[in-house]
Amino acid sequence: MKIGIVGLGLIGGSLALEFGDRAHELWGVSRNPETCKAAIAQGVVRHASTDLASLSEVEFVILCSPIPTILPILEKLTQYLAPEAIVTDAGSVKGAIAAKATALWPNFIGGHPMAGNTETGLQAAHRGLFEGCTYVLTPVDATPPRALEVTRSLIATLNVNLVLATPEAHDDAVAFISHMPVFVSASAISACTSITEPDTLKLAQTLASSGFRDTSRVGGGNSELGLAMAQFNREAVLRSLRVYRDCLNDCLAWIDREDWDSLQSFLEKQHQHRPDFVE
Ligand code: NAP
Repeated sequence: MKIGIVGLGLIGGSLALEFGDRAHELWGVSRNPETCKAAIAQGVVRHASTDLASLSEVEFVILCSPIPTILPILEKLTQYLAPEAIVTDAGSVKGAIAAKATALWPNFIGGHPMAGNTETGLQAAHRGLFEGCTYVLTPVDATPPRALEVTRSLIATLNVNLVLATPEAHDDAVAFISHMPVFVSASAISACTSITEPDTLKLAQTLASSGFRDTSRVGGGNSELGLAMAQFNREAVLRSLRVYRDCLNDCLAWIDREDWDSLQSFLEKQHQHRPDFVE
């Protein structure tokens, strides 16, 4: 299949590597001409350009640029696409994109690979990023069955766990398990930087190891992405952060009152709940 990938960064570059390995022909579009040159030189795509018109012959497009650019890019892209071309995106929010994108291009279906790391850009792209991950597709009532079936079949070849959800349900769920943790994690890093005693700060930096690496990963990652999560999924992110703040306030009160029974019961419950979310 002729596949176009817009945005040759961590997600777009990694998808291009995977689909290239599966004998698809890849056309890349990115903002920076240097990225396009590097993508060809590194064998990430066979063709690359800064011009969306270069996608006029592709059958399938995956928009992998930052969230605020997805709709403006789709709006420009529609004038070049073949009428039967299917478009999906990889954006981490879906409600702000799905309905408008479907109005712009009926053969649109939202998508979101639940995979990533703290790095950004083409140099961070690598094979295996999506192996075993959950990949959400968010069809709406107007999504043509063919668009869903072609997208589902193509994405399934990545060895992912495919899940269908409405854009709204997706956004409510990822607010809790993906977006809220970014601000919790960033706040944890920020709290550590508030250590004023230089020797203590140095010691804390020396002692930080696997626990802190896990806790700080999502908050110390792509700041542009974190900002867009808050801007484009604002209501759900606010709801989840308020719930989190209540939980934290409970912990503060129990520790302050030395109410160790309540604190212990809370921690035991979370030990039981964690496997409900991650193995
Ligand atoms: P990234 O590494 O920063 O890659 C985005 C790439 O898009 C950049 O390398 C940039 O390439 C290109 N770009 C920026 N503006 C553009 C434009 N106007 N036209 C064409 N290309 C443009 O970010 P990412 O982590 O891959 O995220 C990309 C998308 O995937 C986002 O929508 C994000 O929500 C979603 N996503 C991210 C993660 C994650 O954890 N990182 C996970 C799932 C989904 P140049 O070098 O050409 O400037």
